[in-house]
Amino acid sequence: MPKDELEDEELSMELPKELGVSKTENFAVWYNRIIQLADLIEKRYNVAGMFVWKPYGFRIMANIKKIWDKLFAESGIQETYFPLIVPLEYAQMNKAWFDGFEDEVFWVKGRGEGDPTHILRPTGEPAMYPIFAMWIRSYKDLPLRIYETVSSFRYETKHTRPLIRDREITFWYEIHTVHATKEESEEELKEHMRINDKIWEALAIPPIKVEKPQWEVFPGAIGAIEYYNIMPNGRMLENGSCNNLGQAYAKKFEITYIDENNQKQYAWQTCTGNGARYLVAAIALHGDDKGLILPPRIAPIQVVIIPIFKEKLEEVLSTCQKIAEALKAADISVEIDATEKTPGEKFYIWEIKGVPLRLEIGPKEVAENFVTAVRRDQGKRQKVEMKDLSLKVAVLLEQVQTNLYLKAQKFYENIVVETNSFTEMKAKINEGKVTLIYWCRSEECADEIERIEGVEIVGVIPTNEARGECIICGKPSGEKTYVAKTY
Ligand SMILES: [Zn+2]
Repeated sequence: MPKDELEDEELSMELPKELGVSKTENFAVWYNRIIQLADLIEKRYNVAGMFVWKPYGFRIMANIKKIWDKLFAESGIQETYFPLIVPLEYAQMNKAWFDGFEDEVFWVKGRGEGDPTHILRPTGEPAMYPIFAMWIRSYKDLPLRIYETVSSFRYETKHTRPLIRDREITFWYEIHTVHATKEESEEELKEHMRINDKIWEALAIPPIKVEKPQWEVFPGAIGAIEYYNIMPNGRMLENGSCNNLGQAYAKKFEITYIDENNQKQYAWQTCTGNGARYLVAAIALHGDDKGLILPPRIAPIQVVIIPIFKEKLEEVLSTCQKIAEALKAADISVEIDATEKTPGEKFYIWEIKGVPLRLEIGPKEVAENFVTAVRRDQGKRQKVEMKDLSLKVAVLLEQVQTNLYLKAQKFYENIVVETNSFTEMKAKINEGKVTLIYWCRSEECADEIERIEGVEIVGVIPTNEARGECIICGKPSGEKTYVAKTY
């Protein structure tokens, strides 16, 4: 079983000096060190739950954002921007929503008597929906399909962890759509899931989708499909949610339209959101005891070239530059590390940063017309002929991408176990596993299961045909359900 989390180190403002810890033995400490040592973030910003994105981390996240921007654009979902500050009157239009968020809201105080108080947006609904009500008049105005990528603010009372639980949630996208019919809104959610599956493919991680228990869906919503990833310590992390809002919000915010028969109707809505947790999953699942391993499709530097010279400096450097030019022309992002550091020091740095492919070029390579290539996921040296190098590098990068996916898939296969009794389930979870059980969807049986410290009914596998008996009450027609420790 993985050791317990060393929370003291996580909270410490000290910059770690080296990784020096195994990912599988102590994931929490490994994670805390890697996000700093790989130059992703600066943790020492003095507001709890907020951090600074460093350029390298920002570039990775921006690449992930580019993937969703492209997929949304292809699907016709248009980018927009709403203010971060929300008037209290908008926030209070949906009492259930406001009651749910009131305790974790950041207040923006008025400056004097009569000056209104505002809140910083914890989610998009109260900023957007009063405006939707102004925009939508007739069925001809529908569907409305937009998204924005912004920060969200939640005054978390739980212990915060960078990128996992922040008070300023950065790189957060939200899709909000409005439709004339229930069927259309359901089709829309399927589209959001198709898009999300594509994002997970780029991250080289198999997506895990679950249907949330009804009492855990967004206040007033019909239902939700949530994405999860499994962490190396056997805990599951919620990683995106697609919400079927039904007409609940439309009724609170008066989002109505006049239909073909001149009748007023309430609209149907969906919202889907996620952000930097995509990156958390990639860090956690692919990294190893040397550092990050970035899937080539999100890596800001896909190839690093290390010139190795004791002699023939000019010749080696000009060959490196020629190769870099050719790779760039083939749309491969590449950097030459021509700093004064020793090759060993350079290997160490680029390994920590998870660059998928390293090319070493010295006098021998130049003379014999080849490069020495090292895949970050394998660490083995291989000779690659200089001829058609860009093509060969592209193939190597694709192999890294595929291999990372297969490794993540294998990890999931090993960590998820089916159990048939409460005792067995509890034992497996305590061993650091994720369990699949049959559950009847009743709240009473869920309570029984969640009595185990830190354990949660994560959700039911959607559209799963398998049926069995609930492990608590024995009722038939239980559905396959993930139960695990969660974040
Ligand atoms: Zn039951």
